[in-house]
Amino acid sequence: MRGGGSYVEYRTDDARLTIEVLKKAAESGVKAVNYAKAERFLYDEKGKATGLLVRDLIGGGEYRIRARRIVNAAGPWVDALRELDRSKRGKTLRLTKGVHLVFDGVRFPLRQAIYFDTPDGRMVFAIPRNGKTYVGTTDTDYAGDTAQPRATPEDRDYLLAACNGMFPSLRLGARDVESSWAGLRPLIYEEGKSPSEVSRRDEIFVSPSGLVTIAGGKLTGYRKMAETVVDRLAASLRADGRGPFGPCATRKLPISGGDVGGSASFTQYARTAAAEGQAAGLNADAALRIACRYGSNAGAVFRRIARRQAGERSAGLPDEVYGMLVYAIEEEMAAKPADFLIRRTGAMFFDIGWVRSNRAAVVAYMTEALQYTEAQRSDYADEVERELAAAAEI
Ligand SMILES: Cc1cc2nc3c(=O)[nH]c(=O)nc-3n(C[C@H](O)[C@H](O)[C@H](O)COP(=O)(O)OP(=O)(O)OC[C@H]3O[C@@H](n4cnc5c(N)ncnc54)[C@H](O)[C@@H]3O)c2cc1C
Repeated sequence: MRGGGSYVEYRTDDARLTIEVLKKAAESGVKAVNYAKAERFLYDEKGKATGLLVRDLIGGGEYRIRARRIVNAAGPWVDALRELDRSKRGKTLRLTKGVHLVFDGVRFPLRQAIYFDTPDGRMVFAIPRNGKTYVGTTDTDYAGDTAQPRATPEDRDYLLAACNGMFPSLRLGARDVESSWAGLRPLIYEEGKSPSEVSRRDEIFVSPSGLVTIAGGKLTGYRKMAETVVDRLAASLRADGRGPFGPCATRKLPISGGDVGGSASFTQYARTAAAEGQAAGLNADAALRIACRYGSNAGAVFRRIARRQAGERSAGLPDEVYGMLVYAIEEEMAAKPADFLIRRTGAMFFDIGWVRSNRAAVVAYMTEALQYTEAQRSDYADEVERELAAAAEI
């Protein structure tokens, strides 16, 4: 042993990060739409892209969105949109699949994030999170349905072998895997490289129609990537005589829920904020969980719990779940139970038992609150079951 390093920043909730960024953008005037699929670009007579034909994936029907500039930041789908724009030339994407497995912290106890090498020379991380430990990732080329990457038994066995190789006393087996998820990395293709050798850098392509595509990159670089694109758009709009625009303001902008006095004060902030949750009737642990998840927005969740009517208490939803669910519907555009159980709470991956206990009441509440038709109710309930099976039954 010659030395070591300690990761102090290693854990994020990527779906919540995205939603908090979007909520902050909405505060400053951005109009966000959800379940809105861009199906066709609209062009002027000179061939410049001037808008999109969008399909409403929930209500059905189509609508148009007009724009002076259009940015294609569709992750693994950027090439599909470049194809719609007939501008997929030169560099293209290479999708690689990455799988994580989740274990109970009792079965795989860890106090710190660690990484170790696999027998085939890659790096695997094991990360503790709220009583669970998650391990990942795999890195394999992917050619299946972009919307449905799934963890396979081969992925599971690869990660189990890596963990057992590093921690032989654990003897982890398939039955210890509580949950899992798979994602696709939208990497930029490089000739002759293996999946793990391909660079994670980001690149911008501008098509003859003016469509700006940003591809590749990492989550950690999202502000820098946004700054580059926004400053570029501002310059191009200025050249058209529009503006004035200042430089991109992302650098010092906290995300929604981030007004907590800086990371050094966060623990104290969360404790103080949790007191409001206890006053609303939550126990200390539940109040602290909400304070930690929602930061300076926690009060908005607690206030919904405090206002809960006696009639709603009989609906089978514990107060903690109720508060987060109503907040997700009213402030975070949760439209389906899966939105709440997967992306707004991360529970499908990190607390799958909680999903099993609460899913029926969540579906029932959303059916009433959002006036689902019977067909929608049954589709959305089936979607939750499918996602549960995909996460737990690999
Ligand atoms: C397994 C794995 C591990 C990773 N680990 C790390 C890590 O440790 N650190 C790190 O920094 N990064 C990591 N990354 C990379 C990081 O997750 C990605 O860079 C990041 O999520 C990309 O975000 P994005 O917004 O560009 O794309 P996405 O998050 O994929 O968003 C694209 C969006 O475009 C939407 N879309 C697509 N087509 C259309 C259309 N036609 N109309 C409307 N909307 C559309 C999609 O619905 C989606 O919401 C990892 C990625 C994977 C898969």
